[in-house]
Amino acid sequence: MNLFDSVENLKGIGPKTAEVLKKAGITTIRDFFYNLPKTYENYSAPSTIAEMEPGKVVIKGRITALVTRRARRRRLTITEGVIRDDTGFVKAVWFNQSYRVKQFVPEKEYYFTGNFELRNGRFCLMSPSAAEIDEVDKHSGLSPVYVAHGRIKSSDFKRLVNNSRDRFAEIPDFLPTVAAGKRKESLFNVHFPESEKTVKAAREYLAYEELFELILAAKLNKSENEKLKSITIPFNKEKIREFVDGLPFTLTGAQKKAAWEIIQDMEKMTPMNRLLQGDVGSGKTMVAAMAAYDAILGGAQVALLAPTAILATQHFENLSKKLEPYGVKVALLTGATKGKAALKAAISAGEVDFVIGTHALLTDDTEFDALGLVIIDEQHRFGVEQRQKLLLKSPHGLAPHLLAMTATPIPRSLQLTVFGDLDVSILNELPKGRQPIATEILTEVETKESLYPKMREVLGRGQQIYWICKSIDDDPKSETISVKARCEKLRGVFPGERIEFLHGRMKPAEKDAIMEKFASGEIKILVSTTVVEVGVDVPNATLMAIENAECYGLAQLHQLRGRVGRGSEASFCYLLTSGDIPPSRRLRELENSTDGFHLAEVDLKLRGPGEIYGALQHGALDLRIATLSDTRLIHRAQQDVAEFLKNTENMLKYKELMAGIARYQQITTLN
Ligand code: ADP
Ligand code: MG
Repeated sequence: MNLFDSVENLKGIGPKTAEVLKKAGITTIRDFFYNLPKTYENYSAPSTIAEMEPGKVVIKGRITALVTRRARRRRLTITEGVIRDDTGFVKAVWFNQSYRVKQFVPEKEYYFTGNFELRNGRFCLMSPSAAEIDEVDKHSGLSPVYVAHGRIKSSDFKRLVNNSRDRFAEIPDFLPTVAAGKRKESLFNVHFPESEKTVKAAREYLAYEELFELILAAKLNKSENEKLKSITIPFNKEKIREFVDGLPFTLTGAQKKAAWEIIQDMEKMTPMNRLLQGDVGSGKTMVAAMAAYDAILGGAQVALLAPTAILATQHFENLSKKLEPYGVKVALLTGATKGKAALKAAISAGEVDFVIGTHALLTDDTEFDALGLVIIDEQHRFGVEQRQKLLLKSPHGLAPHLLAMTATPIPRSLQLTVFGDLDVSILNELPKGRQPIATEILTEVETKESLYPKMREVLGRGQQIYWICKSIDDDPKSETISVKARCEKLRGVFPGERIEFLHGRMKPAEKDAIMEKFASGEIKILVSTTVVEVGVDVPNATLMAIENAECYGLAQLHQLRGRVGRGSEASFCYLLTSGDIPPSRRLRELENSTDGFHLAEVDLKLRGPGEIYGALQHGALDLRIATLSDTRLIHRAQQDVAEFLKNTENMLKYKELMAGIARYQQITTLN
């Protein structure tokens, strides 16, 4: 069996089904086998209908009288049916699952499981899962539940997997470090559960396999990086000290330590591959400035890439002010830059020391004379292709040193696996005098009563405000208010104040003009989408209101909130919710903590590592099994990978493994 053949080679999968599966990311036989159940229903020990108690129940019966109707709320359908056994009957209710009407054969018996609870004055079985009796009984009551994709429901996946039941025996071995046959046995056992015990063992193997791949990819990245040569940058102690002494503040201990680690890396002949992790407001830019100045003193050119033009412009203004007095030539290169050709000529002639711009800077035809250090701010997506591009831009095939900066703290387990090829510096200390941002969840009613007076106070002190909205345009179908509409409303509430809006679809020049006026204090309230999420630094802004706060993830909210609390004044963040539903755990966690590292751990628990890493990597990687919190397994995989790498022949021998990890390599490599 070739696992990389199309799924269409499996029984019962034709072109139409293959098309739907493709949308779910399942194209090969391998993808199909690795599409693991997200959970299992346990149908063992059903009760009779007469004996049911409120709460989660399992029953066994026939279902009739299935009907679907549309609820008064437009987007909701309600499907109902009556389940009977020898002792009685109960009504089953599903929302937005109209396919249930056709799912069941009236004469056939099924298991049902769901919550038995009160609805409109009557006890019903709510949104029950169902499974065919014969299927379940073969497997000691356990039934896999798959994520539905389009018209392919969990029960369809079950049928398809069942069609290929005999094919599992053909699955080849994968890793040299486990017993022969372990892989096919494990894959079979997750899809055809014998007992909780076999499922657990199978999932543990699959988690191990995944960790092995991730760690191997990271290790290979690292060893490939070590084969490259880079420009060596001698540490210019006197000049760096002079620069630090000239700053309007003293560096934090963490900043000094990080700068020192970077400076030492750059003295080496192999390229630095370092991640600078620091919570919002911890002063990463200053560390980058020191690294850049040191590199420039050592005769190298430096490029700083920012994710947005707004941020690039802000970095340019800040850094040119700090570095030009020392004779450093700094330039800004974004899509909106005028006279690009002349600037590019100057860069390639080595007349510019420090180029700040967006990602386009690399993909562009920009050439450097002696690019020695690349700094990436708040951006992880940086693959093998870009490395090639960088190498082409560097003189004599020397690879530049790389410094990536992020405010999204990476939990330790992810650091060991996914980011194992990076050296990490951590800024775990905020500059002196910062006050924690007072955070509060407000419902709609409370907004008017307490938020507006608070805003008046802040404005009265000459400070500024961010107001974050979800959408750019008005959408009659949505309940979220657009930046424009909110801006109008606030102008009505605060008639004397200058209030403007900002969003990602505005022209770069317009955006810059607005940001500049906000930074200079001319604009008092900035109504914006999340374009201000990363990096924007206006220390005089001390209040932020985030509308529809429940729409954002924890990490994103923490980032947004980090736009305030950047000076010594007290700062406030209000999370506005519609108040229809109780505030989520996310919002409550945010209310109680301003520690990004703590919030990242919480996020890891709430969402699973796939999503966190996915957010970092823009959805490029989905971990199948959420066991990155299993340090024991991580350590075992680390040791086994080290063993594996000792034998160079392994890389030729284990072709599937090497092909599989290429995809991780692409997304974890920074250099
Ligand atoms: P981030 O780590 O979020 O990118 P910045 O580098 O933008 O943070 O720094 C946040 C603010 O703190 C900036 O206004 C910066 O000038 C200031 N800052 C940086 N380092 C210090 C320090 N050691 N003491 C006081 N303020 C500092
Ligand atoms: Mg920053």
